[in-house]
Amino acid sequence: MSALHKDAAIAVIGAGAMGAGIAQVAAQAGHPVALYDTREGAAAQAIAGIAKQLGKRVDAGKLDAAERDAVVARLTPAARLEDLAGSALVVEAIVENLEVKRGLFAQLEAICGDDCILASNTSSLSITSLAATLKRPERVAGLHFFNPAPVMALVEIVAGLASDKAITDCLYATAKAWGKKPVHTKSTPGFIVNRVARPFYAESLRLLQEGASDCASLDALLRDAGGFRMGAFELTDLIGHDVNYAVTCSVFNAYYGDFRFQPSLIQKELVDAGRFGRKSGRGFYDYA
Ligand code: NAD
Repeated sequence: MSALHKDAAIAVIGAGAMGAGIAQVAAQAGHPVALYDTREGAAAQAIAGIAKQLGKRVDAGKLDAAERDAVVARLTPAARLEDLAGSALVVEAIVENLEVKRGLFAQLEAICGDDCILASNTSSLSITSLAATLKRPERVAGLHFFNPAPVMALVEIVAGLASDKAITDCLYATAKAWGKKPVHTKSTPGFIVNRVARPFYAESLRLLQEGASDCASLDALLRDAGGFRMGAFELTDLIGHDVNYAVTCSVFNAYYGDFRFQPSLIQKELVDAGRFGRKSGRGFYDYA
């Protein structure tokens, strides 16, 4: 199946780190994009943030001012979920919680047209389970971008048990048309990358808990000597500890409490304290 036409309307729900990035990617590919968030003003704020970021690229001579203006003009904050009725594709990027996502998908099923594809950017939750309570689970699939979405090439196209192959093929082709490197995967806990990445976070957190070294030294070692782009502590500060902890809990529970995926009490403390990382100004490091 071919990619969605670039004039097709895209809706992104959740204007946080991922939703804003996905909206930017779709708008850069030429789509009109509506961005919705239950937090008042969040969608408009995210669009202003995208404009500011693209402005820096214009200042650096890497982007035409006219192109920046065209991308920003394609982004619209939506006031109500009902405003997304005409979308060809809805990408959900809200909190990593199965019940909350299921509630949203039930609302979307009632609002969106029959041809609309319902995609989730979930990092770890079961697409099969997310879709199971819907009348038409076959039009649901995972469209999992990485952080930051405008920069990271990989996109996991996740098929649940009921996902229609035509839908996952269309998402694959669309992600490719958006300049990404998609990969097909089935809905296993954490899919591919978040499954493989769990031991990276978990062992780093265990080393910290056992007092082997401090965050900065461990990050520097992994980054500078180990060849990783980022160390585990700076990376989880970027991801958000609320999100990363929820993903670990989800994978741990999905594997019936397998010790390999056990969540870290150090990370739980950060979440309990509201120290989510960069987005809250403090995590393992201070960003004030
Ligand atoms: P975030 O906390 O930055 O943003 C989530 C946004 O969703 C917030 O603005 C919040 O107000 C909004 N929201 C919450 N419930 C809502 C609802 N019912 N309806 C509309 N808006 C709602 O989170 P994020 O980091 O952008 O993560 C979003 C999703 O993307 C999660 O499923 C997460 O697992 C996944 N993800 C995150 C990363 C990452 O590195 N942070 C990477 C890939 C995927």
